[in-house]
Amino acid sequence: MKILLATHNKHKLEELLKILPAEDNKGNKIEYVSFLDFPQIAEPQETGTTLKQNAQLKAVYGLKQTGLISIADDTGLTVDALGGAPGVHSARYAYPDKADYPANNEKLLKELSAFKGKERSASFTTVAALALPDGNIIFKEGKVSGFIAQDYSGKNGFGYDPLFICAETNKTMAEMTPQEKNSISHRARAFAQLSEIIKGL
Ligand code: IMP
Repeated sequence: MKILLATHNKHKLEELLKILPAEDNKGNKIEYVSFLDFPQIAEPQETGTTLKQNAQLKAVYGLKQTGLISIADDTGLTVDALGGAPGVHSARYAYPDKADYPANNEKLLKELSAFKGKERSASFTTVAALALPDGNIIFKEGKVSGFIAQDYSGKNGFGYDPLFICAETNKTMAEMTPQEKNSISHRARAFAQLSEIIKGL
C-alpha cells in the first residue's frame, strides 16, 4: 500500500515517518511518499477557518493530485491569555503571507510580555485527516498542554518548539529528543489513533 503524506514540511514529514506504522495488520509493507516527491504539485492554500477544515482540504487536495490515499494534518497553538491566538493562524502569525518561525516566536514573546507563570498557559492541537479514494474522510485529534516560556530553550524540533514548555515533562519541546517529543506530542497523539485505522485498510 502506498500513502501520500500531504505536506511540503520536512520537519513534519520526519516526525510522521517515525510515528506511522511500517506495515499493515497483514504484514504488508506501507510505502510513504510526500509532496516533496512530486515537485510539480503546488502547495495547497490553507483557506479554512478551523484546523479540521485545513486538514481536510490538504488531504483531499493530495488525493486529487496523486490518486493516492492521503494524510494531512493541521496544527494550532492556543494561548489562553491571547484569547486562543494564534490558533488556526499559527503558521502566519507574524506575517499574513509568509510562514516565518523566528518572527512568529518573537511576536508571541512580545504579546505575552505582561504575563507571568501560569498566566502563560497554552496548548498544541493537531487534527489529522485521512482521505480515502471512496470519498470517506477520517479525522483524529491530539492535544498537549503546557506554557509559553519567557525565553527560548533547546535546539530540536521546529516552529514554536523552543518556547513551548510541555506540562508533562517540564521541558520545552525543543529540549526533548525526537523520541521524547514523539511520545507525547499533539501530532503523535493524533496519528497514533489514525495509525490503527491505516493498519486495517
Ligand atoms: P501547520 O499548518 O500544521 O503546518 O502548522 C501551523 C504552524 O504551527 C507551523 O507553521 C508551526 O509554526 C506550528 N507548528 C506546527 N506543528 C508544530 C510542532 O510540532 N511544534 C511547534 N510548532 C508547530
